[in-house]
Amino acid sequence: MSGQLTIVGLGPGPDRWLTPAAQAALNDATDLVGYGPYLDRVPARAGATKHASDNRVELSRADHALALAASGRQVAVVSGGDPGVFAMAAAVFEALEGGDPAWRSIPITVEPGITAMLAAAAKAGAPLGGDFCAISLSDNLKPWEVVTARLVAVLAADLVICLYNPISKARPWQLGAALELAAQHRAADAPVIFARAIGRSDESLRVLTLAEAIREAGTADMATLVMIGAAATRMIARDGAPPYVYTPRSVTKSPCATSQGRT
Ligand code: SAH
Repeated sequence: MSGQLTIVGLGPGPDRWLTPAAQAALNDATDLVGYGPYLDRVPARAGATKHASDNRVELSRADHALALAASGRQVAVVSGGDPGVFAMAAAVFEALEGGDPAWRSIPITVEPGITAMLAAAAKAGAPLGGDFCAISLSDNLKPWEVVTARLVAVLAADLVICLYNPISKARPWQLGAALELAAQHRAADAPVIFARAIGRSDESLRVLTLAEAIREAGTADMATLVMIGAAATRMIARDGAPPYVYTPRSVTKSPCATSQGRT
């Protein structure tokens, strides 16, 4: 049989959030390629070889996966969440573009998964009911000036902002800096969500004000998705549980009017 490559989204954690199509791709694979902790989530199976690699070696992992598929293997490259969101699908296509021209005849399929911001939004209520965007705070692959320029632009546009990769041991201050920037455009009581390990046994959802979030930035970690509300985003208090957070679908004020005089 000729080889093929499927880039599979595992979803945010629990198996019930894995699509049947993603599960089928995992069942059919002879070779599973990915970052170790993601591969650990795929049960071992006779006839399937796992190729674990480190987090930072996405391009060489993609080269390896393409070479395996070119040699006739049924390869599944695994990613947490959705494989196209700050994850392996882009690395595979980058490797394909710069790699052996023969690789272009390999059938490549991307199997979508539930991305972290959708799982987090569902837990919180409906914070993504209006316009929103996603930004990775990691400056491993782009300069910090690019991150801040984009943040300023989307804050001025009054979008709900989902921050992936908010903080790590090597990047301890970026989340605090991003929230300080947000405070120049948003009210101090704007809702900010810290959604950690959503769907897993150690999940937590905290709904804070922007002022609290600035103080608490150090409590976020690599498994946290941070969501900053837009001007219209609101909280509905309830007893014994975090408030619901939602963004109404209708908008009446122009974003320019919202941000003017506060920048
Ligand atoms: N492809 C993944 C994102 C990879 S970037 C996806 O679509 O979800 C890794 C970042 O995703 C983490 O730093 C965190 O911000 C977020 N993340 C991944 N899984 C998460 C989960 N279960 N709960 C909250 N955030 C998560």
